[in-house]
Amino acid sequence: MRTPLVMGNWKLNGTKESVATLIKGIEAAADAATNVEVAVCPPTIFIEQVANLVANNSIEFGAQDVSTNVEGAYTGETSPVMVKEFGAKYSLVGHSERRQYHNETDAVVAAKFVAIQTHGLIPVLCIGETLEERETNVTTTVVETQLKAVIDVAGIDALENCVIAYEPVWAIGTGKVATSEQAQDVHAHIRTWLAEQSKVVAEKVQILYGGSVKAASAKELFSQADIDGGLVGGAALMIEEFVGIIEGAK
Ligand code: PEP
Repeated sequence: MRTPLVMGNWKLNGTKESVATLIKGIEAAADAATNVEVAVCPPTIFIEQVANLVANNSIEFGAQDVSTNVEGAYTGETSPVMVKEFGAKYSLVGHSERRQYHNETDAVVAAKFVAIQTHGLIPVLCIGETLEERETNVTTTVVETQLKAVIDVAGIDALENCVIAYEPVWAIGTGKVATSEQAQDVHAHIRTWLAEQSKVVAEKVQILYGGSVKAASAKELFSQADIDGGLVGGAALMIEEFVGIIEGAK
């Protein structure tokens, strides 16, 4: 059995005050949900604050992005080693906003995946199709290509120690959540495709759904056989919504 994981991606949001309020507001629910892993990915500048706020509760945290470089003349970057030093467990990689606004190719995503694992963090590998790709029936080809790019570089066994987040681009931040059937179909396809390469990986890897998850939609999504929790953007900034989503994963 895979443990459900509910992860908040705060994107470029927060103040010192709102970060403290948010963590205080969700910690009781996170602690009470003993069969659910709860994590947040704050903007890098809030990582130390979050590390302090979660020191005595069960909330884990991660980065939204890291560099492939560990140190040196790379202005503006944050290395996985730095993030790890503050106690982070995860780093997102390949989020559609990074692919779209920062031109991160599959090759860059694969290099970041390796850097994240090499330095002791768990990559949360985001994949998913655009609306046009869904409408032209290439969803499964798109997610396979995105996964293959990482597997070709890191090897299939590396996926034993990662999280996959299936995030249809058309559902991210749009309010258009995939139906539980649409999401389950793709999750099942990903797991079957992985099983052809490694049954161990397919059985073990948590596959999260991401895209406009709300408290109202969480339970049904998370009750699908191949959906192991959610990567949550907008609703992760709202205490009641995020608590409802954690409860939906119990
Ligand atoms: C995300 O940023 O990964 C995400 C799923 O955002 P939202 O929940 O706002 O669609």
